[in-house]
Amino acid sequence: MAIRFDKEVWNKLLHRTKATAAGAAEAARTGAAIVSQKAEETLACAKLRGSIRELKEEIDSQLRSAGELVYATHKGNPSDSDALQAILERVDALNRDLDDAQRELKILKGVLFCDACGAENAATNVYCQECGQPLSRM
Ligand SMILES: [Zn+2]
Repeated sequence: MAIRFDKEVWNKLLHRTKATAAGAAEAARTGAAIVSQKAEETLACAKLRGSIRELKEEIDSQLRSAGELVYATHKGNPSDSDALQAILERVDALNRDLDDAQRELKILKGVLFCDACGAENAATNVYCQECGQPLSRM
């Protein structure tokens, strides 16, 4: 049973996603005028949403591959457990990148994360709604 997992494609996707997230944040930070900054933020948000969609698709595809290996084992055709483990570890890494991208998108949209406890707070909050610490704005 062939494992439909292309390491090269995955690595390329990973690098592109990281570069997009970094570039998007940079674009949002360096906007000269408020109007152009607003436009760049919108563009950055759109790029991040694209990355998030691609990451979700890749996670779905990897989980499908993992499921096929498990099903093959169930049908009496044991799979290479190292291969399954490798896929699951890649899904973990993809999920971490997905979390990073989703957090970056929230920050661009004005959500505040508490430095003390990490809780998500509305942009209008002055103190963390979870732990009460003052929220810092970058
Ligand atoms: Zn807090």
